[in-house]
Amino acid sequence: MIEAEVIVVGAGPAGSACAWKLNQNGIQTVLLDKKAFPRQKLCAGWITPGVLKNLQLKKEEYPFGILTFERLFFHVGGRKFRVPTCQYSIRRYEFDHWLLKRAAVPLHRHAVQDIKKENGYYLIDNSYRSRYLIGAGGTYCPVYGTFFKDVNSRGQQRLITAIEEEFEYDYPDANCHLWFFENNLPGYAWYVPKANGYLNVGIGGKFLTLKNRGQTIRRHWDDFIATLAELSLVQGHTYRPRGHNYYLRQSLPAGQMDNAFIIGDAAGLATLDLGEGIGPAIESGILAADAILTGRRFSTSSIARYSLAHILWAGIKTTITGRTFSNFH
Ligand SMILES: Cc1cc2nc3c(=O)[nH]c(=O)nc-3n(C[C@H](O)[C@H](O)[C@H](O)COP(=O)(O)OP(=O)(O)OC[C@H]3O[C@@H](n4cnc5c(N)ncnc54)[C@H](O)[C@@H]3O)c2cc1C
Repeated sequence: MIEAEVIVVGAGPAGSACAWKLNQNGIQTVLLDKKAFPRQKLCAGWITPGVLKNLQLKKEEYPFGILTFERLFFHVGGRKFRVPTCQYSIRRYEFDHWLLKRAAVPLHRHAVQDIKKENGYYLIDNSYRSRYLIGAGGTYCPVYGTFFKDVNSRGQQRLITAIEEEFEYDYPDANCHLWFFENNLPGYAWYVPKANGYLNVGIGGKFLTLKNRGQTIRRHWDDFIATLAELSLVQGHTYRPRGHNYYLRQSLPAGQMDNAFIIGDAAGLATLDLGEGIGPAIESGILAADAILTGRRFSTSSIARYSLAHILWAGIKTTITGRTFSNFH
């Protein structure tokens, strides 16, 4: 039996940020993940200055390269808008592994299946035991399924279905482009260049709306890659896209039950407008760690529900100061 004060199920950004904060404060923590790291994670990898701030990370300290976008191009109804801002891109393959190493806690490769509470302790698959349990296992987190499902039921109205591909590509344009509602997509499509010659392209939309219209995300994908070719943004590439579903911000009546918590996608925290989930995952992980450290009740109410306001505010700040602001200003 492996014992720890805190067991964190899931070593994505939510779990690693939580473990990092707990470990910094001397709390014995063990991470469990079903996958070996570094692992592929379907994600465009766009992150905000707030992510770096919450991680106390200076851009130049990150070893794999962060690309900065001083503007975003929004495409709506055939028109193109240039939006000044300051946003970043990373590759999740690198970023998640780096966050995990920085947490500096033991990681056990283990696919969690059965969780019980016995005599005030959480018992996982009769192999792990802890006083506190953090559910950071993403959309299908077993901690959510065991303790939180009945209290925090998730509405399919907030379910996003997304499909994407990340690949090495000599991209012709180092700007980030977003297409909203193209071909009646109930969502948006993206072109997100990365440092070191990688590119991520994808689309995401409301699952239920697509279903009710009898449409598939795959059909919209075909339209989108045709658009990328027409605009000469991607040409001659043979695509092998993959998909994943996740939930936008839900009402979260209980993010904590006794000493169990859910954070990140397990709690359904991605922003309502752009489905930004990395920032909320990291922030909720840090807040859960704070709750364990202080004994105060865990709440996610301080986490932003929308991204667009922050994108525009970043642009205003950049315009006023005349330079790309650092995350610590
Ligand atoms: C196509 C797509 C594009 C996106 N683009 C962006 C973007 O550009 N910017 C942004 O901010 N957000 C984006 N998101 C959302 C973002 O990826 C998620 O919100 C974020 O990854 C949530 O982090 P997390 O740590 O909660 O979960 P995850 O990153 O999903 O990590 C969960 C971990 O738990 C592990 N796990 C799961 N089940 C078990 C189990 N039973 N036992 C043990 N381990 C388990 C998994 O292996 C995984 O490592 C995108 C999502 C998709 C699908």
